[in-house]
Amino acid sequence: MDRITISDLEVFAYHGLLKEENSLGQKFLVSADLYLDVSEAAKDDDISKSISYTNICREIDSFLKNNTFKLIETMADRLARHLLIKYDKLDGVCIRVKKPWAPILMTLDTVSVSVERKWHEAYIGLGSNMGDKEGNIKKAIALLNEEEDCRVLSVSRLHITKPVGPVIQDDFLNGALYMKTLKTPQELLALAGTIENRLGRVRDVRWGPRTIDLDILLYDDCVMQSDILTIPHPEMDKRLFVLEPMAEIAPWVKHPVYGRTMKEMYESMYFIHPGQAD
Ligand code: ATP
Ligand code: CA
Ligand code: CA
Repeated sequence: MDRITISDLEVFAYHGLLKEENSLGQKFLVSADLYLDVSEAAKDDDISKSISYTNICREIDSFLKNNTFKLIETMADRLARHLLIKYDKLDGVCIRVKKPWAPILMTLDTVSVSVERKWHEAYIGLGSNMGDKEGNIKKAIALLNEEEDCRVLSVSRLHITKPVGPVIQDDFLNGALYMKTLKTPQELLALAGTIENRLGRVRDVRWGPRTIDLDILLYDDCVMQSDILTIPHPEMDKRLFVLEPMAEIAPWVKHPVYGRTMKEMYESMYFIHPGQAD
């Protein structure tokens, strides 16, 4: 991946735990690795196809002057997010904040914090079998997209699916979407829960009817299991109503555990259970 690097930009600003730091201010040195594809800009020798480092330096200076944080950890994290959200061409950043005048009554060169942040790719399974099913799915997509650190980039067609499991209930409408996000998997799960609640989901019967269900199917190549979150979604390889929309929007994406593409998984599943989807 191409990279533009800014080293030790001097910014005078008012961050710190001590109130003197907030009133007197001090010098910070900010370095930024900006990850983006510069091949088009280089080919055409055209700055509008890259990111101007002058603009980035000004942006860093004004962001750190207009906001006050206690920790350099927070400075680096918020600045990284700010740049990724503001500059569309950026895929990732590494921000390093050095504090040469750290008030610890000892001599040191600098103390610093580095953070790496990037846009992650996630696939979300969508389902509804209550009320205005299509309307619920559309509202959920709009609510996801409203978040400044989430970008919904494609949505599959929606399919009518017969319910599976022990509960007698209405047919489902199912689909999947592809998004980019700065959120961690846990933050994305929390957002999915908030959106489900806002759209009136009631959790009384397990696998029961719901206005909206948002499942994290894939998140980058992440493989993880905790009490609240398993990625990839543990049932996705067994569900035609997940694999069919995934084969449509992400045919060549590989399942990080099974190593098979969505298209392959869908086709072998469809061959076994052709009647599961409409
Ligand atoms: P299923 O998970 O079999 O599709 P469901 O969607 O009906 O069933 P929910 O009641 O929506 O189940 O979720 C139960 C719990 O599953 C959630 O509280 C969440 O913590 C957990 N969970 C684990 N992994 C995931 C994931 N990848 N996406 C969404 N929820 C998950
Ligand atoms: Ca589900
Ligand atoms: Ca769910």
